[in-house]
Formats: sequence, structure tokens, C-alpha cells
Amino acid sequence: MADGVSPLYPDDVAVPVPSHGDVLVRVSVCGVCRTDLDIVEGRLTAQRYPVIPGHQVVGTVEAVGDEVDDFHVGDRVGVAWIHSACGRCAWCRSGRENLCPYFRSTGCDENGGYAEYVVVPAAFAHAIPAALPDASAAPLLCAGAIGLRSLRLAELVDGQPLGLTGFGASAHLVLQLARHRFPASPVYVFARNAREREFARELGAAWAGDTADEPPERMAAIIDTTPAWKPVVSALERLLPGGRLIINAIRKSPADQGVLESLDYARHLWMEREIKSVANVTRADVREMLAEAAAMQLKPSVEEMLLSDANVALGRVARGEGVRGALVLDVGNRE
Ligand SMILES: [Zn+2]
Ligand SMILES: [Zn+2]
Repeated sequence: MADGVSPLYPDDVAVPVPSHGDVLVRVSVCGVCRTDLDIVEGRLTAQRYPVIPGHQVVGTVEAVGDEVDDFHVGDRVGVAWIHSACGRCAWCRSGRENLCPYFRSTGCDENGGYAEYVVVPAAFAHAIPAALPDASAAPLLCAGAIGLRSLRLAELVDGQPLGLTGFGASAHLVLQLARHRFPASPVYVFARNAREREFARELGAAWAGDTADEPPERMAAIIDTTPAWKPVVSALERLLPGGRLIINAIRKSPADQGVLESLDYARHLWMEREIKSVANVTRADVREMLAEAAAMQLKPSVEEMLLSDANVALGRVARGEGVRGALVLDVGNRE
């Protein structure tokens, strides 16, 4: 992407046929996620190529397979990163289907929503609340759901300071969710881009600065959504004793991995500081996010682009350029 290569190309693909238990969804919009870039740039490997990316899909049910009772033709549904999980392993049985060894992802293991149609098991499709327009619902399916999961893993108590490093699609939703759930907690945002810092302040951040700037105080939890390592190291230094760093990234860039050599046990890790990664999402995360967004009237900031501009959209995510909130590809307006 960095050298201007266009990794995605348009192609004519047969409309998939829903098997037993599946729904066929006619796609209206599909959110763009940094993970799409990880797939396109090879940090995340699909099981077969070519593959259609996109895992924040909103559309309407076009057809259903046998024994689908929950959804009917015309229903508005969402498809998230979790395309299926086995339902039988220890993780699935303990409410952690996101960690299932047989987890299959939308837009990587299975074809996703940068397309006119997508198929998903009905049990893994999500009803979209009427209060949420298609383009607002799309970023909730990954950026929002994994943000909600990150916030839960942060185990914040109202009043404790929260930090966010990076301010893209997920963080701009986490900030609003955190302000809603923990009104007494100040939220401090670290972002390289001045426009992102301004945006964070508009959404209620108590302070916003560059990664290297000194925040007003140390934090009980910090959620990192950057692709880099430097913010991880500096976040550890800014945690209170017993604080938690939640890394919300499916892959990290190797570009600045060398900074990890500067890790100092006393400065960055001692005092029971914890580091936890976030992996995938459960269906419950997605549904909780959709319901809470509808209830609190959360309005994701979205910019819509045409599906035919998918390469341009990915390029902008890669460079972190001029994206205020989330990018959403408009698929339904293709005619
Ligand atoms: Zn995603
Ligand atoms: Zn499982």
C-alpha cells in the first residue's frame, strides 16, 4: 500500500448460495478496518486467495437456507468478524467463542462484505436495531464491538482515569462508550495527528496530546489501538500501580519493534502492571454494542466512500490520513 500498489481488484463472482442454516445478505454498506489492511499487506494470512475482505457488513436478508427461523427475507442484519465458532470446545462453552481454535473470520477465512452479497450462518448474523442507520451500524460491528470488549477487559471503575493511545475508528467509539459508562472517569487521548486530538477533545476527552507528551496523571487502564510498539512502551510507563494495558490489535507492525529493547522492568512492568491483548469478538460483544449504541444514541462519525474506491480507502487507513472516525464503503448505491 505504501508504494501505491492497488491490492484489490474488481471481479465478477457468482452470488453465493446459502446452505443449511445460512442467510444470504445483500450488502448495503461495509466498514473499513485496519485488519483489512493486515490481510491485504500479508501480516494476516487468509486460508485461500483470492479472498473478499470486509467484516463490518450491513445489509438485508435476500434468501435463507433450510431451517432458518430467526431471520426472514428483507430483515436488516449485520455480519461481524466472527463468521463461526465450533460451539463445543472449552472456550465456546465458557462464553469465549472469540478464542475458539476453530474460529472462522469474515473477510479472511470466509469471503466478506466488499461485495454485493455475503453468506453467513444465521446464528452468527445480528439484527440491526431500527434506531441505527446502515452506515452508523457498520463500524459498531468491529470497531465498536472490539472497543467494548477492550473496555470490559480494562476493568475500569468509575472515577479511574482511562487512557487511549491512537484515535481511529475504534477509539472514537470507546471514548463515547467510556464517557457514558464511567462519567466520572477522565479520558486522556494520545494521538500523533493534531486533527485526531482535536476530534478527541470534541468528543469529551479531558486531555489530548502527542504520544510523547506528558498527561495530567497516570492511568488505571490504557487501551492501545495503534499498529506500533512505541505507544505500548510509553503507555506502560504511564500506568498506575496495578494498572492494565489492553492491546487492541490483531497484528503489530514490525517497523518499530526495536523500541522493546528499551523496556525496563522497574519503569515499565513492576508494580503489578498487566498487559492483555484483545482477540476477535464474541456474538455477545457485537449484540451488546449494537443495543447500547441504540440506547445511548451513539453516533459513530463515518465517512462514506464507494466500493470502487476500496483501494483508496485502505490507503488512507494505512497512512492514517484524514479519517475522522470510521470509513464505510457504500455498496448498495452501486447502480
Ligand atoms: Zn475489524
Ligand atoms: Zn469452539
